[in-house]
Amino acid sequence: MSKFENYDFKNKKALVRVDFNVPLDENGNITDDTRIRGALPTLKKILADGGSLIIMSHMGKPKGKVNEKMSLSQIREAVAKALGTDVKFAPDCATAAEAAKDLKPGEVLLLENLRFHPEEEGKPVGIDKNDPGYDDAKKEMKERQKDFAKILASYGDVYVNDAFGTAHRRHASTAVVADYFDKQDKMLGLLMEKEVNAVNNILKDIKRPFTAIMGGSKVSTKIGIIENLMDKVDNLILCGGMTYTFAKARGGKIGNSIVEDDKLQLALDIIELAKKKGVNLVLGSDCVAADAFSNDANTQVCPADNIPDGWEGLDAGPDSIIAFRNAIVPAKTILWNGPAGVFEFENFTRGSRAIADAIVEATDNGAFSLVGGGDSVACVNKFGLADSVSYVSTGGGALLEAIEGKILPGVAAVED
Ligand code: AMP
Repeated sequence: MSKFENYDFKNKKALVRVDFNVPLDENGNITDDTRIRGALPTLKKILADGGSLIIMSHMGKPKGKVNEKMSLSQIREAVAKALGTDVKFAPDCATAAEAAKDLKPGEVLLLENLRFHPEEEGKPVGIDKNDPGYDDAKKEMKERQKDFAKILASYGDVYVNDAFGTAHRRHASTAVVADYFDKQDKMLGLLMEKEVNAVNNILKDIKRPFTAIMGGSKVSTKIGIIENLMDKVDNLILCGGMTYTFAKARGGKIGNSIVEDDKLQLALDIIELAKKKGVNLVLGSDCVAADAFSNDANTQVCPADNIPDGWEGLDAGPDSIIAFRNAIVPAKTILWNGPAGVFEFENFTRGSRAIADAIVEATDNGAFSLVGGGDSVACVNKFGLADSVSYVSTGGGALLEAIEGKILPGVAAVED
């Protein structure tokens, strides 16, 4: 693998996988261009070196079929504007050889949505996992995926993967394509490198104390990470909806609060595991309970394990907030994934806001703080604090898998 910064792209055709899966409104206008802006440093460096760009991305889930609503032609102008140069468009990513061949240094070609071809994801279409013949169909599709990746690879002299959002998938454009480039001609882009470094700060170069904050609605979707973090953290704050699964598991009364009844034993196991590993497990002791799941509901502060019938915990209470702060402010490494309450309702943002403020305070004192996963990113954006933490990750699933300790295929494919 080459290092992107040191690579000279002069007269090279760079095949770059980006994540331009931007949200569009019903008229095809981009409603949030964060992902386009995220890829600019990589794309601009290649052009500045005197290289040309073949940009590839997916958009949405067209399931292997052409779907105009997910056509990347809709973002061509926005990409051109962002790059400050014309962008040519290849209406079928699998037949763009001529267009790629004609590219001159400084020119840009955007390929149509990779996922219009089932080979991109490499999943057999029209056959269920349980159908007889599925294994054969899968094998055949894997062969087709290789052929498709080979076509994509033929367009470029060098391959750059800058799509962290899909790095946890072994797709044609994110991983398989790398097999067709020499070691020195494949690399991670600048955004990918930043993401990978941020994860390494959390998993490898840990400055202590290390506090992880896991929130959100359910314990079941976070269990892999919680278990992996037990070996690494000093403090583990579990907040948000999962609070009540823990409270109930310990014999508490939780009213109408969100709960996973089939995860009560799991909650007890986590408490035991924390004890065994010497991790300071912080569970909110009190909550703001509401008499309806609504921003305008009546509220009262009560113990998280003694919520009156008909009421539900929707935010962390004042004592919990103090406990969270005590575990966050002195920390030197911080990971935050998942809100401490129903932050979408203005009246239930206090717990999440307090966590964000404490993270900012710790960061000002020299901590490395990583915020990742859709909803905590939405929180820091809502509070206007995204620039006050060390790193806000763009990857949802990819970030979580990386923190779980899994190897990301998109990274492994270009590494030596
Ligand atoms: P997740 O997708 O698991 O990260 O969960 C994020 C969601 O959890 C957000 O939409 C929050 O509104 C929700 N959430 C957080 N705390 C609670 C709670 N106490 N009750 C219900 N939902 C919650």
